[in-house]
Amino acid sequence: MTTKIPPDQIVIRPPVEAYSVLIAVSGGCSWNKCKFCGTYKGIYGSIQDYAILPLENVLKEIDFYAEKNYHGFPVFLAGGNPTSAPTDYLVKILEYVRLRMKNVQRISSYAKALDILRKSDEELTQLAEAGLDIVYMGLESGSSKILRFMKKGTNAESMIKAGKRILAAGIKLSLYILLGLGGKEFSDLHAKETARVLTEINPTIFRFRTLNILPSTPLWKEWEQGDFELLSPVECIKEERDIIAQLGENVTSQVFNDHVSNYVGIESSNIKEERDVFISYLDSLMNNPRIQSLPRKNLDRM
Ligand code: SF4
Repeated sequence: MTTKIPPDQIVIRPPVEAYSVLIAVSGGCSWNKCKFCGTYKGIYGSIQDYAILPLENVLKEIDFYAEKNYHGFPVFLAGGNPTSAPTDYLVKILEYVRLRMKNVQRISSYAKALDILRKSDEELTQLAEAGLDIVYMGLESGSSKILRFMKKGTNAESMIKAGKRILAAGIKLSLYILLGLGGKEFSDLHAKETARVLTEINPTIFRFRTLNILPSTPLWKEWEQGDFELLSPVECIKEERDIIAQLGENVTSQVFNDHVSNYVGIESSNIKEERDVFISYLDSLMNNPRIQSLPRKNLDRM
């Protein structure tokens, strides 16, 4: 039997929110079926059940940080998918953060495409007007075939629709791309289709992560049985290069490699203007014998 982590304990936050005030809004993940994801999966089952926290608890938490003078910081509304909560509940939280905490630099949260698609355009605008600045969404891959294989529960067209609607409502969008998610067999498809979806959405930011499998995930078992092949470091770099090279001319996103799982740390404030430099840098890494012989890292913790 797994001892469960209570839903108000924060399990994960984006690295960019490391110095933010973290307010737990939801626990667990309402889906929790993605084959590659070990965030809420233990060896013997879910480690934290999905829950939306009672509004009064969240407001009390905001009071706590306001009274301790945590003003002037960004605020991250934590939990696997807080946007699954009713819009009026989220609006009350956003308005209360803005009321109680002074000079909040930004308010952000994770968002799941299907949760976004369940909200109307008016609801998304209400969230933007109440002060939700940016959401972080796992695109993972632009290939519906890979998303289906990985049990993401969303296809590429739903990702495009959700992404466009977030941006149209006035909320910034940061997408995660998971290098290596198609394995060796579908690496080219992963790059091509991910570039296509990024071109359709033109998100504010996209960020690369590298597939890192844990023993608690279904994908680990498939890898052990030889049914899924992990990419080498140089193949991950090539995949990133191929995504950037196949982006449409309209894409002006910021690009980050801001994760411990990555093999490169290159960034761009506007990929349209810096695409050639970005690609040349990745080409130089791919041709570097030291990089070519790098072993794959698989991390126990991130
Ligand atoms: S990747 Fe996201 S949606 Fe999928 S199981 Fe993990 S937390 Fe849930």
